[in-house]
Amino acid sequence: MSAVSKWQRFEEELLALQEQHLYRKIKVIESPQSSHIRYRNRDMLMLASNSYLDLCDEERIKAYAVKALMEYGTGSGGSRLTTGTTVYHTQLEEALARFKERESAMVFNTGFAANSGVIPCLCREGDVIYSDELNHASIIDGCRQSRAETVIYRHNDMADLERKILERQGRQGLIVSDGVFSMDGDIVNLPGLVNLADTYGLLSMIDEAHATGVIGATGRGCEEYFHMEGRIDILMGTLSKALGAEGGYICGSRTLTEYLKNNARSYIFSTSLSPVIMAAAKRALELIEEETWRVRRLQENIRWFCRQLQEHDVDASSDTAIIPIRIGDEEKAMRVSEKLMELGFFIPAIRYPTVRKGEAMLRAALMASHTKEELSAAARAIAESIRCYEG
Ligand SMILES: *Cc1c(COP(=O)(O)O)cnc(C)c1O
Repeated sequence: MSAVSKWQRFEEELLALQEQHLYRKIKVIESPQSSHIRYRNRDMLMLASNSYLDLCDEERIKAYAVKALMEYGTGSGGSRLTTGTTVYHTQLEEALARFKERESAMVFNTGFAANSGVIPCLCREGDVIYSDELNHASIIDGCRQSRAETVIYRHNDMADLERKILERQGRQGLIVSDGVFSMDGDIVNLPGLVNLADTYGLLSMIDEAHATGVIGATGRGCEEYFHMEGRIDILMGTLSKALGAEGGYICGSRTLTEYLKNNARSYIFSTSLSPVIMAAAKRALELIEEETWRVRRLQENIRWFCRQLQEHDVDASSDTAIIPIRIGDEEKAMRVSEKLMELGFFIPAIRYPTVRKGEAMLRAALMASHTKEELSAAARAIAESIRCYEG
């Protein structure tokens, strides 16, 4: 019998993470997800949530979800293809297809399940997947699960992408990219990407997790932002961010969704979401369409906050609700974040492996409901906290 514990190597790895300031701890929130939260028994300004339109705790959405709860109960009882499709599921899918101006839409249980299920379903042995180096982990996992060759191109670099396509000309495949990149908050070069896809007969797939409800005049995402309606072949997004609910979706042609319904394993072999959450997502979508001021307010807040940071000599600019504030050193980023927490601002540090080693940052995320005063105070606190740990 070996005296070495079965857990020794895991314990050693955890210790190493602690030493490198890369150990992650769960933060427990004691309130609804909104611009003000309770954390460690005190009120804080939330500047980290993906709930960009602040719809997680909206009264009309909650009332509609409660109606669905009382009518249909809690669980769906089966996968979408067996017993797990209710009218709340299909009504949401119809609303999504309308919102994104597509023939058809389908809901997956998470955005992660959509990406990791759809990519291996559409790309097979002999195909090529061209994937941006900063794509989300769920896209990376989808590529890994596929038998296709995955080719990583430099971040948003269309010349590099075209070079790589030309080296493999004539092969079928897919170009896949985040629409808004989840850590840096920058936007895909959609005209360049779609042009290459159409020129070389490749499918285009854009992940709109951080674009829907955020960019474009009415929050419809990347196509609206670039005035390129209808040009993306496979539109993917989540219900879990600006829409304040849960789930992922795919919008596109009827051929696309029918094919996926018959083949995508994460769709077929997983119990579908509760009708309660489908109802919440549908009502949220309606509110975004009816009350266009939400998206406008968010976009105003983004401009205001970046300007405030710049006035305090903090380098920050973004066209999206994600505003990265670069720190570099992991330990310094942790210290600055902790200092901000003490001051009542919830802004976590983002470290390796989410971003590269030595490129730690604060990732501020804005909401439509933040006030100008709150954002000014946050910008001042960020500048002061960074200065505290300078040199
Ligand atoms: C959050 C996110 C996902 C995953 O969506 P979930 O609904 O949270 O599973 C996929 N892609 C990107 C770019 C994301 O930011």
